Amino acid sequence: MRWRRPPLNNPVSLRIKKRPHRASGWLLLALLGLAGPVAAQAPTEVVRQGHVPADSLFRLIYVPIEVPAGTAEIRVREDYDHAGGGVLNMGIYDPAGYQPGTPAGFRGWSGGAKTAFFINGQAASTGYVPGPVGAGTWRVLLYPSTIAPAGIDWKLTVTLVPGAAGPAFRPTPAPAVANRRPGWYQGDLHLHTLHSDGRRTPQELAAEAVAQGLDFLISTEHNTNSANLSWGAYARPNLLIINGEEVTTTAFGHWNALGLDYTTLIDWRYAPRDSAIARYVAQVHAVGGLAIVNHPFFPDTVNRFRFGVRHFDGIEVWNGRWDARNERALAWWDALLRQGHPLLAVAASDTHTAAPSPNQLGRPRTVVRASGLSRAGIMQGLRRGRAYLVADRPIQLTLTARAGGRTAGIGDTLAVAAGRPVRVALALRGAPAGTVTLRGERGVLASGPVAVSGATALRWQLPAAGLPHYLRVEVRTPAGAMLALTNPIWVLRATE
Ligand SMILES: [Zn+2]
Ligand SMILES: [Zn+2]
Repeated sequence: MRWRRPPLNNPVSLRIKKRPHRASGWLLLALLGLAGPVAAQAPTEVVRQGHVPADSLFRLIYVPIEVPAGTAEIRVREDYDHAGGGVLNMGIYDPAGYQPGTPAGFRGWSGGAKTAFFINGQAASTGYVPGPVGAGTWRVLLYPSTIAPAGIDWKLTVTLVPGAAGPAFRPTPAPAVANRRPGWYQGDLHLHTLHSDGRRTPQELAAEAVAQGLDFLISTEHNTNSANLSWGAYARPNLLIINGEEVTTTAFGHWNALGLDYTTLIDWRYAPRDSAIARYVAQVHAVGGLAIVNHPFFPDTVNRFRFGVRHFDGIEVWNGRWDARNERALAWWDALLRQGHPLLAVAASDTHTAAPSPNQLGRPRTVVRASGLSRAGIMQGLRRGRAYLVADRPIQLTLTARAGGRTAGIGDTLAVAAGRPVRVALALRGAPAGTVTLRGERGVLASGPVAVSGATALRWQLPAAGLPHYLRVEVRTPAGAMLALTNPIWVLRATE
């Protein structure tokens, strides 16, 4: 582990007291020694306190908690001065392990979204993983992502409730297949519920997705797979739910691991200098998933992506409502295409709330050509770049390129014999007034207006001399906001 060590000068005090049940006459009798065996059922309270000095930003602070055998539930409450401007993110590991890269002991993460949680054998707070509360050393992880100049005084109150373990929690993951019909499917690749810092329940999000005409969702909570354990309750024949995770460090940016198994957890506890990112992206690939750089320029100072794009499959060039940060992400992606890096571009809402915000579910969305509405089909479509991005539900398009007798669509490669021109056709529906541009590595190749009513059909012929290496389309409003954006059709020229 080459992450900075947790501060050794972090003063932690410990006190333990037995706390009787409130207003329980029989328990009072028990505590008075009149019912000996019941007295053992009193919860134990452990209080730990400490101070995070101002120079400890982004340090991992593990607070050990000894859990005795026979504990049925653990409850943790975190207190610190929020008004001072500090944010002390929180998660927990059980005795199975807590070192980065060993997710076996992971039992949940709520970041800065919660200050209290519980875990027992059958249930847990959102963001946390139900299951046995095993005896041994548990570790609460505190991660300061903002610290006031005076530092942060914190207190953890841990309540250990004795009792029998009860029946085991059974995960209900979403089915991996909704249908096997080839087609174009609309999805939102980035969203949050109460399992991280979103405000909707999973049920509310799934219902809204169906109302918005989305065919699939990819669940991407910050640093936890807890939602993925129970999406099966909300998946529907017309709504595929795919497991994912937003791997999140405030210090070095966010990325999405898409298409995971429900048991897979990708660790976030490393820095760019650790050179660990390739290993974690490989874990995503090993289960058939993709790694996407999220909102790389959001905002300008924190959460900005600092791992480098080399090991990633794509870039979220469009996050929520189109703005200058998306424009920068698009320019970065386009520059990488020109340099010969065939990265996937995706659009996603990053929705957190149902109320008006720049991040509304399905706006924007990614439309994928897939062999079926299944996890494997959608991930394969994305992997091949068979995807276009639209601002909202009504906008649909088809882009094809032809040369000789061959035809290629978005994500495909068109082999062009020497001396052949390329004919490009765009069919567009559902877009408001705007302008279409056809682009290659040297910029705009052609343009045309969006028909204000009905369908837009544009055709261009590119001469054999000076064919581009790729073709892609942008559709924008007169003010420049993005309406639709395609991934490239690749052009393989015979002279190469
Ligand atoms: Zn993010
Ligand atoms: Zn997000």
